[in-house]
Amino acid sequence: MAQHTQQQWIERIHCSSVPLEDLSDTACPVCESTDRQQLIEERGYPLWRCKWCTHVYISPRPSQSWLADLYSSEYMPDSDDGQSWEVYLDRIFEASARAILAYHPQRGDLLDVGTGFGGFLIRAEQDGWRLHGLEPNSSAFAVAKDRLRDRAVLYETIFEEADLAPGSYDGIVMTNVIEHVREPLDICRRAYTLLRPGGFLGLRWPQTSWITLNRARLAGISRTDNPIIGAPIHLHDFQRRSMELLMHRAGFVDIKHAWSSTRRQPKQSLPKATVVKLLTAVAYGTHCVTGGRRMTPFVARLTLGRKP
Ligand SMILES: [Zn+2]
Repeated sequence: MAQHTQQQWIERIHCSSVPLEDLSDTACPVCESTDRQQLIEERGYPLWRCKWCTHVYISPRPSQSWLADLYSSEYMPDSDDGQSWEVYLDRIFEASARAILAYHPQRGDLLDVGTGFGGFLIRAEQDGWRLHGLEPNSSAFAVAKDRLRDRAVLYETIFEEADLAPGSYDGIVMTNVIEHVREPLDICRRAYTLLRPGGFLGLRWPQTSWITLNRARLAGISRTDNPIIGAPIHLHDFQRRSMELLMHRAGFVDIKHAWSSTRRQPKQSLPKATVVKLLTAVAYGTHCVTGGRRMTPFVARLTLGRKP
């Protein structure tokens, strides 16, 4: 069993603090507008909403070198084989695999960015994809390598620095990656370049700020040490509009928001577990009735777009 429970790990990693010299201001990372409204201060990091594209983001934000150090060293939880961790994620991998097949029934070369212990690639293998993965954390990479052996091409690096050939992939998947990166538009544009024509990009992204922010507002506070979006590890909280703009600006068309399920929750009190189930049921019902066009907050989505 892992030395940390998932919840302990989340609390530890989200309490990381960024030195002042590693912080710099930014305009909206999606549309580049500087017209914005401050929502709250989360753990000392101002949280903004872009007035033009609705994107929610922190500014100032950590430097690329601080983030690269974090993800290559302490970011992944301690784990013997990764499987105890992935028990929490299996429903997400299953939902993503099904959504991808519905969107893109053809197979080919699939690149999983931030592959962790390799769980999503192992699931995707069942569907007949040729497997490729990137993972910067050395201990997670070693586990993924051991589990997948020569059935996958794996690189121990971050996406921004990976030496990959343009036009090499039929699909690129990033599960809970895009909210961690400084320049989401650059990431999506790089993915576009790496795809073959007709290939797809799938971004799984959380939505958290609506509920956490309104809870803070009801309490009448303007700064908090409680998580709102998860700063400074999460730099963004995408909204439907800002996610679609991000994909469009990178060149993707035929954008769809697929249901992505939720991670299994570690031990919760009965009232909390009931609220989580209720919110998930409302989100799922709304998603089905509107074909994914309306989103209730709280539940993550897998947004898919195609390279023409
Ligand atoms: Zn914007």
